[in-house]
Amino acid sequence: MIAFNHVTKVYEKKWKALQDVHFRIDKGEFVFLTGQSGAGKSTVLKLIYMDERPDDGEVLISFNKNLTYRSHGSPAPGSIQMLRRRLGIIFQDFKLLVDRTVFENVAFALRVSGYSNKKIKERVYEVLTATGMSHRTRALPHQLSGGEQQRVAIARAMANEPYIILADEPTGNLDPDNSSEIVKIFQSIHASGTAVLMATHDYHLIEKMPYRRIVLKRGQLVNRDYI
Ligand code: ADP
Repeated sequence: MIAFNHVTKVYEKKWKALQDVHFRIDKGEFVFLTGQSGAGKSTVLKLIYMDERPDDGEVLISFNKNLTYRSHGSPAPGSIQMLRRRLGIIFQDFKLLVDRTVFENVAFALRVSGYSNKKIKERVYEVLTATGMSHRTRALPHQLSGGEQQRVAIARAMANEPYIILADEPTGNLDPDNSSEIVKIFQSIHASGTAVLMATHDYHLIEKMPYRRIVLKRGQLVNRDYI
């Protein structure tokens, strides 16, 4: 469960990127975070993965009793890393390691978590199969199309069995067909029980989707279903 309790975020002591934002995302939910460019979507995601802290209000992340994190007070040593290991974060520009193969990009996250080589190999093939990329394990990122690179990035995000996928404009660099394919992959991840929070300003891409939307306009929640 993720809860934003009246969260305000101010950049450079003056710019209110978020103002009194209040919402909750439950276990296993699929939610779109929408709003035009500059509305505050990335700021919401950064507050969840603790790259930023609120100036007012509270962000509460609670996946189980051992993994509960409040933005108030000082975090326990190592707790932010622990939290991030249970979040699957995906960016518009993929952020793959350019000098590592597809296999290594996905395996990297698992090595950090201390799995055996056998287990790593099994899991890498499992998640690359889920995103349709198991035939390209030896390719380097530059040998792949944008859509393929994003599929690898999604496989990497899934590797550690996250509680939630956080995707920041994951289709921003992709054409409409590839964008629809990426949303379909998120739907199948959601169907297997993982929560998905996808930030996008592409209203057409999501207009027929049955999921809840959190809509932001200039840093404030808007109580309607369009931008
Ligand atoms: P979105 O993801 O919806 O495009 P952002 O959360 O990136 O919106 O940005 C919200 C607002 O905060 C924008 O006006 C942006 O310029 C501003 N902003 C974002 N990050 C910073 C920063 N590090 N310093 C100053 N202003 C920022």
